[in-house]
Amino acid sequence: MPVPYADLQLQYQNIKGEIDAAIAGVIRDNAFIRGSYVDAFEREFAAAAEVSHCVSCANGTDALYLAMRALKVKPGDEVITTAHSWISTASMITHSGATVVFCDTDDATFTIDPAAIEAAITPRTVGIIPVHLYGQPADMDAIMAIAQKHKLWVIEDCAQAHLARYKGRMVGTFGEAATYSFYPGKNLGAMGDAGAVVTNDAALAEHMAMLARHGGLVKHQHRMEGINSRLDGMQAAILSAKLPHLADWTEARQEAAKVYDAGLNQIEDVVVPEVAPARSHVYHLYTIRHPRRDALAAHLGANGVQTAINYPTALPFLAAYARFAHQPEQFPNAHRDQGQILSLPMFAEITRQQQDEVIELVRKF
Ligand SMILES: *Cc1c(COP(=O)(O)O)cnc(C)c1O
Repeated sequence: MPVPYADLQLQYQNIKGEIDAAIAGVIRDNAFIRGSYVDAFEREFAAAAEVSHCVSCANGTDALYLAMRALKVKPGDEVITTAHSWISTASMITHSGATVVFCDTDDATFTIDPAAIEAAITPRTVGIIPVHLYGQPADMDAIMAIAQKHKLWVIEDCAQAHLARYKGRMVGTFGEAATYSFYPGKNLGAMGDAGAVVTNDAALAEHMAMLARHGGLVKHQHRMEGINSRLDGMQAAILSAKLPHLADWTEARQEAAKVYDAGLNQIEDVVVPEVAPARSHVYHLYTIRHPRRDALAAHLGANGVQTAINYPTALPFLAAYARFAHQPEQFPNAHRDQGQILSLPMFAEITRQQQDEVIELVRKF
C-alpha cells in the first residue's frame, strides 16, 4: 500500500462537519475580510500560543517582514539567522532593508548553533532570527543570553513549531516577537495561505497590525505606509475550527515519532532526529540523515513511500545568495545535512501499519 508524505484529505474527512460549518458561516455573514472570524481566531491563537497579542496576516513570510519593519530594521543593519531554513527567513531580512548573516547549525538538532552566533556579531548586528526547524526549539537560553549581552532583538520563526516547548516554556514567548505560518501542510494549516505574528508587547503589536493594513487601523487614517497583508475570514474560520484539535494532533505526531525512533535507530547508517534535553519536538517533519540519501529516497519512492528533502540546498548556497560567495567550509553542518536529510511520511493520522511499511523498507535498503 502506498504511504503518502502527508494526508490533508484524511484530516478534512475527520472534521468535515466543523470545517464545512465554518465556511458556511463566513459566507452567510459576508465576513470575507477582517470581521468577527478574524478577531476570534486572533484571540484564540494568542491564548494557544501563550502570548498577549496575535496579529494575523496573509502568510508566514509577511509575518517576518512585518516584525522586522516594526522593529525598525534599516539599511546597513545586519540580522543573523540560520543556514538551514526555508528561504523566507532570510529573504525577508533583505526585503526589510537589512543584510542577512548566516550561521551554521549545530551538529545534531538542525537548529542554529549559538557559538556561531557569537562569532558572527559585529557592531552592525541588530537582531537574531532563530528557527525552530522541523518542530524542535532552538537553544533559546543560549540565544537569549547572547541577545541580552549584545542588546539585540530576537524574532522566533515558529512556522514549523506550533505548541513546541523549550524547558516547559512555549516557543514564541522568548523574543520580542514570533512568527507563524498556517500554510496548509504546517501543523496548524489553513486551506490557503495564512500567517500571524505574536508578541507580548502591545505597542509592537499595534505597529505590526498597522503595517499589515496599509498603515492604519481606522479606515482612511493612514499613519504610515504599510502593505496589504490580511488574513481572510474563510481562513480564520477554518483555523478556529482546527485549533481545538491541535494539541491532540501534536501528540499523535509525537507518538508516531516514537514508533519511527524505535524502528529505525538500530539500522546501520540511519541517523534518527536527536532531541536535545528539555525540548519538546512537535515533529512538523520527521527528518533522518543517511549517507546514501538519494538512493534511499529512490528505493522508498519505487515502493510507494513518498518522502521529501527539506531543503536540498542550504540557504547560503542558493543562487539567491551567490553574491556572498559562501563556501561549504563556512557551514560544515548545514552543508553535510543538505546531502543527507530525508523527511519521512509524518502526519497525525499516520497508521502503525503505514509506519511499519516505511521502517521495513528502510531496513531492507
Ligand atoms: C513555511 C515557513 C515560512 C513561510 O511561511 P509561508 O506561510 O509559506 O509564507 C517561514 N519560515 C519557515 C521556517 C517555514 O517553514
